[in-house]
Amino acid sequence: MHPSEIAQNLQRIKQLIAAAAAKSGRHPDDIKLIAVSKGRSWPQVEAAFAAGQLRFGENTVQDAMSKISRCVHPAIEWHFIGHLQSNKAKYIPSNFAWLHSLDSVALATKLSRLARQKPTPLKVLIEVNITGEVNKHGIAPSSLIHFIEELLQAQLAGLELRGLMAIGPPLANERALRAAFSKLRELRDACAPRFGLTGFTALSMGMSGDFVPAIMEGATLVRIGTAIFGERRKP
Ligand SMILES: *Cc1c(COP(=O)(O)O)cnc(C)c1O
Repeated sequence: MHPSEIAQNLQRIKQLIAAAAAKSGRHPDDIKLIAVSKGRSWPQVEAAFAAGQLRFGENTVQDAMSKISRCVHPAIEWHFIGHLQSNKAKYIPSNFAWLHSLDSVALATKLSRLARQKPTPLKVLIEVNITGEVNKHGIAPSSLIHFIEELLQAQLAGLELRGLMAIGPPLANERALRAAFSKLRELRDACAPRFGLTGFTALSMGMSGDFVPAIMEGATLVRIGTAIFGERRKP
């Protein structure tokens, strides 16, 4: 896709985000756009950066590293949004500011050991499987309280628990999407006071096809790839 098209897409999405924020009585600055650059070439990332985009999302370490090593601007923030295998944990704290997909205590323990040696903590979101699909990663909603208890018992220095992440239901209508996203919001609202977690405020939800209903239900981070960079080539 031509750089000017990427810039136009970013502009249009920001307008849609602002409109959805206004409609739900929220401030547009409370919703951060993550440009999901997985599978995209370096020039595509550069085009988005040139258009002012500073947050990028990647879902594999290998694909991300080639871009992160070239893109050294200090204001750029990289978000790991894919499922993380424990043997790749070592790459996360030095390269990413956020991990959206925490789903095991073992992984958290490993990340903590690495992150506590860094000057800034790693911000983490717990991935929740709000739709109950068997092929999806994430903690079951009914196990979330217990999972957070375990995390807190493990005293994970170097990690900052910042909230929850979910992927919406596929091929769902507006009502089903909003019901799923509201479930994630309710889980966050129940967990934060229960554990006295200050800063447990983030809701990472909404992609190209469903970011408007996600914002209507309180999304603070939207992860958008296709609507910025065009269709991905099938692997
Ligand atoms: C690929 C991906 C996205 C972006 O999806 P688009 O439909 O291209 O916007 C968002 N979140 C996760 C976890 C992804 O893997």
